[in-house]
Amino acid sequence: MKVQVLGCSGGIGVGEFTTCVRINEDILLDAGTGLGCLTQSELTQLRHVFISHSHLDHVCLLPMLIDNQFELLKSPINVYGVSQVLESLHQHIFNWKIWPDFTQLPSVDAPVMAFTTLNSKESFKLGDLSFTPFDVEHVVPTTGYAVVSEGGRLFVFTSDTTLNEGLIKTLNQMGPIHSLMIECAMPNRMQDLAIASKHMTPTMLNELLICLEAMPERILVSHIKPYYVDEVEAELMSLNLNAELIVLSSGQFFFL
Ligand SMILES: [Zn+2]
Ligand SMILES: [Zn+2]
Repeated sequence: MKVQVLGCSGGIGVGEFTTCVRINEDILLDAGTGLGCLTQSELTQLRHVFISHSHLDHVCLLPMLIDNQFELLKSPINVYGVSQVLESLHQHIFNWKIWPDFTQLPSVDAPVMAFTTLNSKESFKLGDLSFTPFDVEHVVPTTGYAVVSEGGRLFVFTSDTTLNEGLIKTLNQMGPIHSLMIECAMPNRMQDLAIASKHMTPTMLNELLICLEAMPERILVSHIKPYYVDEVEAELMSLNLNAELIVLSSGQFFFL
């Protein structure tokens, strides 16, 4: 399984793109501004989009993707998420005001976009891969995704989350994690804001990792607010983790 990080930043700016991860050629986790890095032929290959939550930095290019493919599609692009997330997209974006309701175009019987509701902790098979949404604590209903590769390795994408007992328990129940892509939006001095906005700091990430029964082989840190990258990176490096820690940047890819 190829995991390509198209966007992993907590904001925009030169060389910074928001959350979007491509799995192999045809699957996305979230559809932030990183999606705009793909070529037309790469966009054309996309068939499945798993959405973690309705925040704009994670969904802003989904409407553009469907629009881009409108003339080309012979079958719908499948958009997956738990019910509250899909309802928010339908109500607040694909509502004919912000953007057309592509679940009804060009016709209700043969639309260009189809929503598939997933249930938390129930795995969804896509070819040789499986995708399992799991609840995390953020300011809106949010799920991460546990993705099992063709070879049985586990890639976990937490999306936006804060630290709580539930996250520790959920990650421990998954068994050995090969690669954990987790957010760390703010530096330690902003812990109060991180807690209020339900994000993570390096200290909170460390507290989480200490509580894991098995350390993931790789910790892939994402969603740092652009203004704080140097500060967060320095705090992360001082943690001395017993794992490979990579502060992600757009364009990086991994094989699992
Ligand atoms: Zn968010
Ligand atoms: Zn976000």
